Amino acid sequence: MKISHIEHIGIAVKNLQDAIPYYENILGLKCYNVEEVADQKVKTAFFQVGQTKIELLESADPEGTIAKFIDKKGEGVHHIAYAVADGVNNALSEVAGKGVQLIDKQGRKGAEGLTIGFLHPKSTQGVLTELCEK
Ligand code: ZN
Repeated sequence: MKISHIEHIGIAVKNLQDAIPYYENILGLKCYNVEEVADQKVKTAFFQVGQTKIELLESADPEGTIAKFIDKKGEGVHHIAYAVADGVNNALSEVAGKGVQLIDKQGRKGAEGLTIGFLHPKSTQGVLTELCEK
């Protein structure tokens, strides 16, 4: 696979409305998009930092994966997303062939029109890893 850059860093927060002012007023970033991704049960807020984005994730459902993550670990970094230049499906099957455990066997639709696929943190030293393409 060919990784071009870190597309975004996903950060789990209890509440977007409470978290956005830190990024805007303290870090001086601008929230340019708030979007609900229904099939992942999350509300997201995005900030651009060079080529990379910060993606804040609030659970839209008390049983969602973000809610469960915060119950276990508290708010904080949730995943790292790498932009792959040669296709998410290619990359997923390539790493599966190298013995990496996948959460997604095939790319699916994520926020901002990206195709995304997750690798299991069991195979990535505990870092939930997302591969994505435009
Ligand atoms: Zn993400």
